[in-house]
Amino acid sequence: MDSCVFCKIARGEIPCYKVYEDDIALAFLDINPANKGHTLVLPKEHFRDMTTCPKDILSHLFSVAQLIAQAQISQLGATGINVITNVGASSGQSVMHFHIHVIPRYDNDGLELSLPPQKIGEHDLLLLADSIRKGI
Ligand code: AMP
Repeated sequence: MDSCVFCKIARGEIPCYKVYEDDIALAFLDINPANKGHTLVLPKEHFRDMTTCPKDILSHLFSVAQLIAQAQISQLGATGINVITNVGASSGQSVMHFHIHVIPRYDNDGLELSLPPQKIGEHDLLLLADSIRKGI
């Protein structure tokens, strides 16, 4: 992917604040961090998002995300972590190269990442669970 910014970082054509690298994965600081130490974990190979990333790579990336989270706790004093991956523009994905946000949290850091609850009835919950089950 010639024009993909994360492919360019993976190829070393654009600099980054590297945190971790191996043959498959790269992790670097987000340039517009939501919090101190906000890190992105991504595959060097281009996949659009989590839904199209092969399972073995996906599982490796989440292992790397775990390492990053552990280091944010031990080295930065994080007292919590948010792990987020956006899929598609409607979810807020802006860079269409799969990545996992590992966002350290600190007591009273003021960061709002809330999921406001919607009202939903039991019948709809049953139908939704059934629909999703049929796709698995
Ligand atoms: P998303 O909205 O889930 O696609 O997240 C993309 C993230 O990539 C945003 O948080 C951006 O701040 C971050 N980002 C974009 N370009 C760069 C870059 N060159 N280096 C580091 N982070 C970047």
